[in-house]
Amino acid sequence: MTIAADIATLVAGARSRVSELHGELVRYGLVAWTSGNVSARVPGADLMVIKPSGVSYDDLTAATMVVCDLNGTVVDGDLSPSSDTATHAYVYRHMPQVGGVVHTHSTYACAWAARGEPVPCVLTAMADEFGGEIPVGSFAPIGDESIGRGIVETLSGHRSPAVLMRSHGAFTIGKDARAAVKAAVMCEDVARTVHLSRQLGKPLPIPPADIDRLYDRYQNAYGQRPPRLAD
Ligand SMILES: [Zn+2]
Repeated sequence: MTIAADIATLVAGARSRVSELHGELVRYGLVAWTSGNVSARVPGADLMVIKPSGVSYDDLTAATMVVCDLNGTVVDGDLSPSSDTATHAYVYRHMPQVGGVVHTHSTYACAWAARGEPVPCVLTAMADEFGGEIPVGSFAPIGDESIGRGIVETLSGHRSPAVLMRSHGAFTIGKDARAAVKAAVMCEDVARTVHLSRQLGKPLPIPPADIDRLYDRYQNAYGQRPPRLAD
């Protein structure tokens, strides 16, 4: 299969974005050795761009990224794709609104995943980004579609863009790969803070109505808005 010229431009953009975003996983201390991966859906095509398997973060470039179809079959690239490719592909096939997926074994998120316990919503930052607790998905074997199925089952109808797959690690989704990376960074940050809080005593839950208000404000009013065309 060859990639049509118009799609090739979109693929090139996705290759460079996905390559650069892997640097954020390193910058925020979310990965050890070659673990962890970012992927992006290629807009308008049934394709995704994902990290190659087992390649050092220092050696990742746009050219080393791998392009796969949404069944995980390699379409373009010299290297083998991430061993988590089937998981990412499953999420893209079943969640059409998702444009980016991230997976890490970040330390504090994994500490909660190892206990199979959701991170409770006890901080306004959690209400903002996750709209509630960070849920846990069932234990799933690696190598087939079980993890993808667990992610989709857990996050469908849930506001959280992050799920802790039991005994494994964090998977996050976003409208694009950058949003999924942000969710991975925030997931680790709050997993750490809530863990520390629990060492001091019992963290206080935020009432659901307050979570709803915080989530709505952050998702709809926080940050910079694009300028209106009429202005
Ligand atoms: Zn993993």
